[in-house]
Amino acid sequence: MREGTAQLIRREDYTAPAYWIRSVDLTFELDPAKTLVINRMQVERNADQPAQPLRLHGEDITVTRVLVNGDSVSFRHEDGQLVIDTLPDTPFSLEIRNICAPDKNTKLSGLYQSGGGLFTQCEAEGFRRITYFLDRPDVMAVYTVTLRASKAAYPVLLSNGNLVEQGELPNGKHFAKWHDPFPKPSYLFALVAADLVAREQHIRTRSGKDHLLQVYVRRGDLEKTEHAMNSLIASVVWDEARFKLPLDLERFMIVAVGDFNMGAMENKGLNIFNTKFVLATPATATDVDYAGIESVVGHEYFHNWTGNRITCRDWFQLSLKEGLTVFRDQEFSMDMTGSATARAVKRIEDVRQLRQIQFPEDAGSMAHPVRPDSYVEINNFYTATVYEKGAEVVRMMQTLVGRDGFARGMTLYFERFDGQAVTCDDFAQSIADANPDSELARQLPQFKRWYSQAGTPRLASRGRFDAPTRTYTLSLEQHGLPSPGQSEKEPYVIPVAMGLVGRDGRAIPLQLEGEAEASGTERVLVLNQPRNFYTFVNVDVEPVPSLLRGFSAPVVLNDHLADADLLVLLQHDPDPFNRWEAGQRLALNRLLAAIGSDEPLVLDAGFTDALRAVLRHPELDAAFKDLTLTLPSETYLAEQLQVVDPQKIHAARESMKLQLAQALRDDWAWAFEQHQVAGGYSPDAVSAGKRSLANLSLSMLCLASAADGDTVWPGRAFQRFKDAGNMTDRLGALSALTGSHAELAAPALERFHALFKGDALVIDKWFALQATTPEKNGLVFERAKQLLKHPDFSLKNPNRARSLISALCMNNPAAFHRADGAGHAFWADRIVELDGINPQLAARMARVMDRWAALAEPYRTSAHAALQRVAAKADLSNDVREIIGRALQ
Ligand code: ZN
Repeated sequence: MREGTAQLIRREDYTAPAYWIRSVDLTFELDPAKTLVINRMQVERNADQPAQPLRLHGEDITVTRVLVNGDSVSFRHEDGQLVIDTLPDTPFSLEIRNICAPDKNTKLSGLYQSGGGLFTQCEAEGFRRITYFLDRPDVMAVYTVTLRASKAAYPVLLSNGNLVEQGELPNGKHFAKWHDPFPKPSYLFALVAADLVAREQHIRTRSGKDHLLQVYVRRGDLEKTEHAMNSLIASVVWDEARFKLPLDLERFMIVAVGDFNMGAMENKGLNIFNTKFVLATPATATDVDYAGIESVVGHEYFHNWTGNRITCRDWFQLSLKEGLTVFRDQEFSMDMTGSATARAVKRIEDVRQLRQIQFPEDAGSMAHPVRPDSYVEINNFYTATVYEKGAEVVRMMQTLVGRDGFARGMTLYFERFDGQAVTCDDFAQSIADANPDSELARQLPQFKRWYSQAGTPRLASRGRFDAPTRTYTLSLEQHGLPSPGQSEKEPYVIPVAMGLVGRDGRAIPLQLEGEAEASGTERVLVLNQPRNFYTFVNVDVEPVPSLLRGFSAPVVLNDHLADADLLVLLQHDPDPFNRWEAGQRLALNRLLAAIGSDEPLVLDAGFTDALRAVLRHPELDAAFKDLTLTLPSETYLAEQLQVVDPQKIHAARESMKLQLAQALRDDWAWAFEQHQVAGGYSPDAVSAGKRSLANLSLSMLCLASAADGDTVWPGRAFQRFKDAGNMTDRLGALSALTGSHAELAAPALERFHALFKGDALVIDKWFALQATTPEKNGLVFERAKQLLKHPDFSLKNPNRARSLISALCMNNPAAFHRADGAGHAFWADRIVELDGINPQLAARMARVMDRWAALAEPYRTSAHAALQRVAAKADLSNDVREIIGRALQ
């Protein structure tokens, strides 16, 4: 299948292209079995490069003719490329005709079929699966696209930019011609031909320009697009207000597609979305889904400036657009919440995600810098490091130059680079140059180690209070751990937002030695040495340090705080992030002690009382309570250990959960009653927070009931499941039943399936809930295996494949890592099977073995065997081979 062989691409080998393609005129005769592409390009030699043949990328397509300035020329194929040796020295037109087969395209990259329609996905290297091209982001062209297709089968024909012409053709066909005035790289090209309907909205932006916004979905799904449209309008308004970045197109389209490898794609003016991030009604989508739609709609919209107007010079610079755009969507979601605590809740959720996915990545076989140095398959580098750690790097810049300074930096970035393909260095330099007096400008080369060094830095702190001199000295010490190909690490520039908290809860004014007076109760210390000391003066009583507030840097902090200190922070820290963190640490300390000792975990009253106080607190937000009372995940626990025994981790965490359920039983019942949301459904942060706390409470009550054979709460959960007015409550009640292994779980699951059998996204939830049920006696794994044979299951649809396979292997460690090795064997079988269908997806699922080497026996041995079995497959894709190869290194 693959053309060419696996090759390591290196960042340092970058050279500018030998030719430029200035404009492209594409005509498509669309047909699922055989689509004809006529590709007319205006090409010229890049005078800065030595004269050489033109080498065009192409994959799984068949060329039928090649014309230069209207005359046919000879060409050859070499390493999967089409090579033309003799070309004019002056600009020339190049016409290529080729065919492709969308109905055979199971990789979902290039032009493919989904639900009877035709869709494209070109990032990163899918355009070459449509036609021959210089398929690299630094080649930017103006596109004109004509689509011709059967009018009955494909009534809607879309591409980037503006519709310039449409009409009828003989034989029941019709056509549409689109023109995109903005030069763009090929990865931003898109077309859609399908039977769709659109929700439309006209808006007038601040500048007084009118725009048409459209959300295209399948017939029958229109009522599910209101939230996506609202999110899009909010995104347009926000980007103009916060960064002065206006919508630059007359028409902005979102199209939903049921088969999609990722979340969504920012094609210029024609974003294509996974249905999961478009479709929602209260009856079918949860609060988490609503929040996901808002953030992904925002993310793709924000790419219009950070990604499309300024794009990446090469794929090593991916974080230039992704890290920055994740940062922007995070800020957008925070600004949309409207309250300070809700902002903090969003921040906590983002950090939890970072620790759950990026920290393990940074410690495992696939660890790589935010700006990687090499890759085999670029699709494997759409990672949490490039996205989420990349966003943290941008956030640190904002912390170092301030919010206004960062906005100034963005403005300078656009002044310098609008319309160009640039690098991460260009971005960092712009932010620094716009803030010449900042810590960032002073330490830019060192700061940029965040782009070049992999691994999560360790930060250790110790404090010493000296009563006679009324001083408090804080030492901060950093070190980096080795990662693949990088044994030594140089010190980073780490912004440490901090405060000192008195044991009575008072925020202590901060005055460093040498300063004339105290200023404020919070500040940012910038650590750029391996170790540094900070002496605070005029400190009357021994304080508790509150460090890394708001998670001001993506590091692992060891602050050596005792339980008593953590309890002070949990009760009093004015920074909600650190308040939450203190609670997590208290739980973590107890869990790690139990995992390491073989003694059963017995919860102490000090801990349960503190959590009760949070739960019963008269002022705290429900969403904050929910997060504080949710125990650290099994994956996060695993990251704290040198040798990982997933079964021990699971047992300890389940035991703590049960004890917390029992110790706080009356409080959970109180919380459940207190947090019912009356009236119609609204996805706002306050209502969502109440629902999540009510659902957590219900789960805890069902757990406690299960332990002592009481059936009242499972009965109530079942009733709630049946009566629920929205999906959040319904799924919450259902998961309270499955999570406590209640007898009523089975009938509830059956009923759920019957209720929603036509709705693919809801059936995904049905699979995922079963695959992520906390393991008990190996039955969850057995059930997941049975579900493989369920008539609704298919590996071909990425959402469905993820809902069962990723859910089990990635999100249910105790069901997956079994002493008999059956989980690992199951994984190997699925990877091999899926690799033949969709290598990109298979490679993502293969990532669950990144951390296999840290497993305890017997898990380690069976994981190794499973990896070897996958590696032994003869025609493994480059995608999966790269992941497995790195794991086995
Ligand atoms: Zn993105």
